[in-house]
Amino acid sequence: MGTKKKSWKEERIRRDQIDKYLNADGSDFINDVLIESQIRDNVNPDPQKVRDIIAKSMAVETLSPQEAATLLNVEDPQLWKEMEEAAGLIKQKVYDNRIVTFAPLYLSTSCVNNCLYCGLRSDNQSVTRGILSIDEVKREIEVLAGTIGHKRLIIVYGEHPQSDVDYMAETMEAIYGVKAKVKNGYSSIRRVNVNAAPLPIEYLSRLNQIGIGTYQVFQETYHKKTYSTVHPSNTLKGDYRWRLYCMHRALEAGIDDVGIGALFGLYEWKFEVMALLYHAIELETKFGIGPHTISFPRLEPADNTPFNQSSAHRVSDEDFRKIVTMIRLAVPYTGMILTARENAQMRKSLIPCGVTQTDASSKIGLGAYNSYDGPEQVANRQQFILGDTRSLDEVVRELALMGHITSFCTAGYRCGRTGQCIMDLLRTGAEGKFCKLNAVITYREWLDDFASEETKSVGEQIIKNEIEEVKCTNPKVFEMFMDYYRRTAEGERDLYF
Ligand code: SAM
Ligand code: SF4
Repeated sequence: MGTKKKSWKEERIRRDQIDKYLNADGSDFINDVLIESQIRDNVNPDPQKVRDIIAKSMAVETLSPQEAATLLNVEDPQLWKEMEEAAGLIKQKVYDNRIVTFAPLYLSTSCVNNCLYCGLRSDNQSVTRGILSIDEVKREIEVLAGTIGHKRLIIVYGEHPQSDVDYMAETMEAIYGVKAKVKNGYSSIRRVNVNAAPLPIEYLSRLNQIGIGTYQVFQETYHKKTYSTVHPSNTLKGDYRWRLYCMHRALEAGIDDVGIGALFGLYEWKFEVMALLYHAIELETKFGIGPHTISFPRLEPADNTPFNQSSAHRVSDEDFRKIVTMIRLAVPYTGMILTARENAQMRKSLIPCGVTQTDASSKIGLGAYNSYDGPEQVANRQQFILGDTRSLDEVVRELALMGHITSFCTAGYRCGRTGQCIMDLLRTGAEGKFCKLNAVITYREWLDDFASEETKSVGEQIIKNEIEEVKCTNPKVFEMFMDYYRRTAEGERDLYF
């Protein structure tokens, strides 16, 4: 048994699937020394220079690392306020008032890695391990799609031979196959995003054929020394470059939508923001497609994991706000995911800084939506502790009261609006036109199938405003849109542009 597992591990990392992407001199695209010096060299920026850079972001142009370093060095609170306002306006320009929602679903909690910050690390003896059977997966989907009304998931796997590509493929197919009965027909998961370990190109092609949405892998920290401290070198995750180039492999495998991220709290936050920008620029340069999403998880407490309290780089709420603002300004076209790691108050206050996606009714224990019937959060059954476990209904209502429409739209991916195509649409602001129509239609669906009376009454006002807006801004399609809208209100499902 021991040898079998070893050979699985030994076979995983394909050196040639790293080397071919390296620079001619054998280096990668993260130059730690250069990044540190760019941050150091741009202190005390001239306010006019800062405003010129903000104007570039407002034109939906990716910033250069020098420009980002300049903004990162702003100390004046008034200028930060201007940056924050600009971040909100950019989000509005590119994505309008839509916030996409989803839920996380953990499928396995066994992991061969030993990341110091993670409750699921192999050394942690106190955590409960497991893997959902296909029947258990289907039962989770019955709740997620049938009772709560989610249409999008991020499914999460530990890195382990039991949850390798065959299991991933089988579970994805099972998820797409569930049609949960609701009063107006059925509800199903229409987009499955995946957060898993870095995979070889062949495996990624296979997941692409099954219909993977976004493939998400976070570098955790781009700082090489810190990376090797928190990811022991005898583990698969200890290989920095295998992880660094996984989005190159994904794009080569035909997966258009890739999601990058850093776990804030491991190293200096300004460095990580710069490195995320370098990653985005590298993908734009090599593939013509930047990251579909950027995630910015912040270190949370986890069972039996003292590292998380002792890290010297834990991020304050104030700095976290700057992180969100900076990512929006540096990579203006990208989707930005704020998760339920953050508490309700923090989420409410950060959404106006440029966030485009957020989860709701999240449970991250294995089988927690249906199969497991205990308290909401149990430390030794989950990777870390969530800060916000509010229901989707409450989150939709809060967003509506803030003037946002929660979008359940999954059409972009199903109509081929991904990758280069979506990048162009986002940059020109045209994406919002399709998405607004689909957002309204899917919102109608969700309100009728799942909302409480209280949420429904707030949501109706949003719909009214949106219909007026479509009438004025998109008159050519208005008639057809209203036809789809009426049919949806009468009970037809899954109509989209
Ligand atoms: N096993 C996969 C991997 O490591 O790539 C996915 C696991 S997990 C759902 C996804 C992310 O959660 C990790 O990439 C990491 O950034 C984050 N994470 C891990 N431990 C965390 C903690 N204690 N607090 C907050 N986020 C954490
Ligand atoms: Fe495993 Fe991911 Fe946790 Fe690391 S972060 S121990 S790879 S589940």
